[in-house]
Amino acid sequence: MPPGFTINFTGKCIVVTGGNRGIGLELSKAVAQAGATVAIIYRSSKDAEEVAQKIGKDYGVKTKAYQCDVSDTETVNNTFKKIDDELGPITGVIANAGISCVKPALELTTEDFNNVYNVNVLGVFNTARAAAKLWVERKYQGGSIVITSSMSSQIINQIGPNKANTQVFYNSSKAAVSNLCKGLAAEWAQYGIRVNALSPGYVMTDQNTGLDPNVVKFLEDHVPLRRFGKAEEMGGQTILLLSDHASYMTGGEYFVDGGQLIW
Ligand code: NDP
Repeated sequence: MPPGFTINFTGKCIVVTGGNRGIGLELSKAVAQAGATVAIIYRSSKDAEEVAQKIGKDYGVKTKAYQCDVSDTETVNNTFKKIDDELGPITGVIANAGISCVKPALELTTEDFNNVYNVNVLGVFNTARAAAKLWVERKYQGGSIVITSSMSSQIINQIGPNKANTQVFYNSSKAAVSNLCKGLAAEWAQYGIRVNALSPGYVMTDQNTGLDPNVVKFLEDHVPLRRFGKAEEMGGQTILLLSDHASYMTGGEYFVDGGQLIW
């Protein structure tokens, strides 16, 4: 951060879905480093509570992990109430949990569609609305939601040369969630709630570790900065959007993609 530019989340409580690994883990650390209490939502990882406690210890903040499938509306609402009681009041949310589905379109099934959309679109909606409900009820002005979308909301990103596999369900789910972000921002501005999207380019996480090294090289050659992003490089834009420095920013989509979208 430039000198004199500080972000201080002391007294804030931020929920990070999928905050136990990958990009979400680095986002959890970024908000903890800024002083926030962090609630990490995970689906099934066995070590999520351990991860949360380590973040708490490293940054001297309160942290806790909550098992919750973001695609289950009732469970999400109940989990948000629980977090609000135990760690809150919740002041910010990073709706980051997401899954991919790497398969040629000719082989995709309805089950694949439901899996991807239930997490990437319905899951984000459930998460954002659970927070918004709490804020509207208590008349809290100043809630901020950051949705992890993807540069693939805008382009047909490919896993491999010649557009041989374009992840059509994943890409279209990200286009949907970027549009969802704009709609929620428009509706909830009246309650003082801001909603923005962070759209990463290629980041080396579990989502991409299975990729053939030749494919990784091919993809890197097509990124202007000539490399994959690091998960920790997603933190700066996210904490800015959560903070009061972004008090006039809502409904935006911000690309952290090594310049990918200019090509
Ligand atoms: P990872 O596969 O590394 O981590 C996914 C996280 O989401 C895990 O914490 C997982 O929990 C959680 N999760 C998955 N499904 C659910 C669910 N139903 N309910 C609750 N939590 C769930 O993913 P990334 O870190 O790579 O991706 C994070 C976000 O960034 C996603 O939305 C992804 O689409 C997006 N993104 C990623 C890019 C990349 O190149 N990696 C590029 C652009 C966007 P658990 O550990 O318990 O399974």
